[in-house]
Amino acid sequence: MNVYDSNRMAVMLENMGLVKTQNQRDADVVIFNTCHIREKAAEKVFSDLGRAYLIKQERLENGKDTIIGVTGCVVQAEDKEILKRAPYVDFALGPLRYFRLKEVVEAIFNEREKQLLDTQFSAVSKFDFLPENKSESGCSYLAIQEGCNNFCTYCVVPYTRGVEVSRPVEDVLNEAKRLVQTGSLELNLLGQNVNSYHGEDASGKERNLAYLLNKIAEIDGLQRIRYTTSYPADVDDDLIQCHKNIVKLMPYLHLPIQSGSDAILKKMNRRHTRDDYLRVVEKLKEANPNIGMSSDFIVGFPGETDEDFQQTLDVVNRVKYIQAFSFKYSRRPGTPAAVMDGQIDEKVKKDRLQILQDLLFSYQTKFNLDSIGKVMPVLFENKGRHKGQLVGRTPYMQNLHAEVDNSFLNKIVEVRVTDASTNSLSGEVI
Ligand code: SAH
Ligand code: SF4
Repeated sequence: MNVYDSNRMAVMLENMGLVKTQNQRDADVVIFNTCHIREKAAEKVFSDLGRAYLIKQERLENGKDTIIGVTGCVVQAEDKEILKRAPYVDFALGPLRYFRLKEVVEAIFNEREKQLLDTQFSAVSKFDFLPENKSESGCSYLAIQEGCNNFCTYCVVPYTRGVEVSRPVEDVLNEAKRLVQTGSLELNLLGQNVNSYHGEDASGKERNLAYLLNKIAEIDGLQRIRYTTSYPADVDDDLIQCHKNIVKLMPYLHLPIQSGSDAILKKMNRRHTRDDYLRVVEKLKEANPNIGMSSDFIVGFPGETDEDFQQTLDVVNRVKYIQAFSFKYSRRPGTPAAVMDGQIDEKVKKDRLQILQDLLFSYQTKFNLDSIGKVMPVLFENKGRHKGQLVGRTPYMQNLHAEVDNSFLNKIVEVRVTDASTNSLSGEVI
């Protein structure tokens, strides 16, 4: 979601005549779009800001000023504190307020405002005020839903992104068409809780994610569709059928379970049990036997016993995830879990994370090794580390490197996989 928001901000700044630079020392405007989900990400912002301030001072000695802005969830959570901790920040906009970027940058530039903070939870939708989006590469994100009403007890999202809002069907379709017209072959539909999407169509009728996926699949020129992140309790039968019927929908689904223990899921205020989750995975595999699953996990949630943790490992052994993201529980101020009894020792969290990641990596590595010899369509998205190399994605979100020239960039090409490791594949274009 932050990548999507950052891209939209980049388009706004480009429309103002600004150009991107590779070197921060050249930048007249620097914006940090921030994440508050775990403590580490949130704290990093302040060290990054400190470094930006040093560069600002250096540039001032050469007669150049720099506007420093902060956007995203750290702004929403810290509010006035952000200007106290980093008083040299020129503006700070919450994740629902960055549509004001042009006006705010101009006001600071023209010295109409000295400093500006806006963390309103607006009644208006920011999407109504953003300029038309355009594709930056062959693969684009498209936000269809924002905010969350689930209030998992560890999570800051409902407090920083606000209540759940779905964009109207027509708005999403227009943005999707525009992204495809400007070069996207793949769209990744985004929402904090994307499968609870319930946007209105032109006649005012509420439509679900399955309806939207079918509509988007009709767009000529679009070849791949993904959606993320889904909430297990909101996977309905319509959505499962999409994995059977929509050819453009990639056979990969990120469906976070967080923990395999019912006791912990309950304390997390997740609206599903471990069996509910496993049943959904089973149905998805019935709809498309080739589907690869991915998940998020939190280890060391307050009260998590060795037995609870074993239950998480057991789910991994059953589902055999082809990719996953796993984190040590991070205590977030203002969330219910932060003040729960039974906070887990850092060393125990670290050990559990290691054990979990070793197991997850073993399945991921096996899946990647099993890909050797197969031919897969790869969307080349980026230049590789070496000259003459491009990096792309397989339908299963695996990174694949190949020695091919830049003319293959932003194209989908058949590739034979020749080698594999835990994190990536190599292949030859055929
Ligand atoms: N809406 C998505 C997740 C959004 S947050 C969902 O419900 O699945 C992305 C991931 O960050 C979460 O899935 C969770 O694994 C992790 N996360 C969120 N809060 C956390 C915390 N306090 N400590 C550790 N990990 C956290
Ligand atoms: Fe956070 Fe996801 Fe739970 Fe919403 S559903 S509170 S975003 S973890």
